[in-house]
Amino acid sequence: MSIQVFGLPVSRGVAIGRAVLVASSRVDVAHYFIDPADAEREYERLRDARTEVSAELMALKQEVPEEAHAELVALLDVHLMMLQDPMLVESAQPWIATRHYNAEWALSAQLEVLTRQFDEMEDDYLRERKADVEQVGERLLKALTRGTGLSPGALANAGARDFAGEDPLVLVANDIAPADMLQFKRSVFTGFVTDVGGRTSHTAIVARSMDIPAVVGAREASRIVRQDDWVIIDGDAGILIVNPPPMVLEEYRFRQRQVELERARLSRLRHTPAVTLDGQTVELLANIELPRDASAALEAGAVGVGLFRSEFLFMNRAGRLPDEDEQFEAYRAVVLAMGGMPVTIRTVDVGADKPLDRASSQEPRHDHMLNPALGLRAIRWSLSEPDMFSEQLRAILRASAFGPVRILIPMVAHLSEVQSVKQWMDRAREEVTARGQAIGEVTLGAMVEVPAAVLILPSLLRTFDFVSIGTNDLIQYTLAIDRADEAVAHLYDPWHPAVLRLIAQTIAQANAMGKGVSVCGEMAGDPAFTELLLAMGLRSFSMHPAQISSIKQRVLRADARTLQLALPAVLDADQPQQACEAAMRTSSKSGAERLAVSSRTVLQ
Ligand code: PEP
Ligand code: MG
Repeated sequence: MSIQVFGLPVSRGVAIGRAVLVASSRVDVAHYFIDPADAEREYERLRDARTEVSAELMALKQEVPEEAHAELVALLDVHLMMLQDPMLVESAQPWIATRHYNAEWALSAQLEVLTRQFDEMEDDYLRERKADVEQVGERLLKALTRGTGLSPGALANAGARDFAGEDPLVLVANDIAPADMLQFKRSVFTGFVTDVGGRTSHTAIVARSMDIPAVVGAREASRIVRQDDWVIIDGDAGILIVNPPPMVLEEYRFRQRQVELERARLSRLRHTPAVTLDGQTVELLANIELPRDASAALEAGAVGVGLFRSEFLFMNRAGRLPDEDEQFEAYRAVVLAMGGMPVTIRTVDVGADKPLDRASSQEPRHDHMLNPALGLRAIRWSLSEPDMFSEQLRAILRASAFGPVRILIPMVAHLSEVQSVKQWMDRAREEVTARGQAIGEVTLGAMVEVPAAVLILPSLLRTFDFVSIGTNDLIQYTLAIDRADEAVAHLYDPWHPAVLRLIAQTIAQANAMGKGVSVCGEMAGDPAFTELLLAMGLRSFSMHPAQISSIKQRVLRADARTLQLALPAVLDADQPQQACEAAMRTSSKSGAERLAVSSRTVLQ
């Protein structure tokens, strides 16, 4: 039976493939295809892991003290029995033999099938045995990973193997942490669906940066979909279709081809400078998460990096954070790759929905925080870890010797933070210079992400050379909506008049003071806002590389002078979206007619 599940669209396009269900706790299990000729060897790995776990459990049984409760021994016996049950290892074999999954993936696919069966059992006692199967499964997965000598994360990255000839796959999970999502960059998956998450949650942002269709907040998806079901992800409408009928499938295959054609058409704009009809040059920059993303930025025709989310360098490292030299190498790689174009490096912004990894002991413990989005995150965390902050500043300053660098400080709200940042910067400069290391052209900027920063902007701009508006957080903190919570996602509204007025005010003040201003939140890459932001006076946009060409197309068709005439009406409107649509429709008319209609909009 075909079912439709509705969620939030976060990354455009259509993906059609077989569902790979992954439990949130097993998202970092390696997913890659093996050579079909190696299927028997891969299955042997699984059997070897079973032998190892069996020995482990037997040893545990021996170690149980005599006086211990007999229940413990009985439990170990249950685990031993489950381990030998053909439903576990033998039933994972077809995933290897026919689908060419690696052993870890085959086992985790089979565990999903089994746990689903347990969930459906009527008998309470039997249903509770699910936890035992999960524990045995975890032991097997650990044994497999030990056998390879690689971390699960490293293995997941190995997922970039050629998988031509296999059915396309889409990942379905209850939740995926941003750090785990990162491991799926260049992986075997052609689409993602999660039960939880908001449109600008960091998981959604990473999915978007991968430029593959994704839907989040699909609530029941991971419960409804079964392992290996055929599914369609409609990333434009935010719909997941499970087991689509042939006609629907055909319709979506047609749309998929259209999306590809449109992409190919837009990519021809790559080398066209972004200049409006009235001759205003607009800077289109790229947002990146890792140094290797610089190549996508260049391919998309970005004229620099407007946001390097450096915290992604700090993720999935089991608590061992990158030192100054390692960071320096990473920043330098981006600066060199961009060949003289500016690179904006944001200092670490961990916290809220963006933990470093599950094992890290150095980051703030979010599970103990009452309200992580309002807690020790971004610059607050950096200033509470001065050694780490200084190391990062030194690494960035050193990278500036290889090309222009802009340092960006996240979530600034207090002038005291500004003063502290300045002091640490001066000290880092002295330390680098004292070592005889070169420093090149560096400017310092603040992210405008909380309303307080807008209200004290003139004071902030006395210290900072530029500001970059982080609309994702600005909306979150202005409207008091957790950006990662799908329960309040309908209230997360970039068109809210308060949000638009704060953005307009920031752009106007920065322009008036002759300071640089950019938008690097998701609004910059959303074509629905391009004209409006141009009308506000914005000339610098930073977005995922894949969004650059469609924003460029909007810029090329816009006339900033006419748009500006329509702005007051939009900002004063109770319903800015309607006002904006009306105003921008008029601005796409031509010459005198356009001016006449726009001025009427303003006068109304
Ligand atoms: C933002 O808040 O708009 C932003 C760009 O930062 P992040 O999404 O990483 O919080
Ligand atoms: Mg932010």
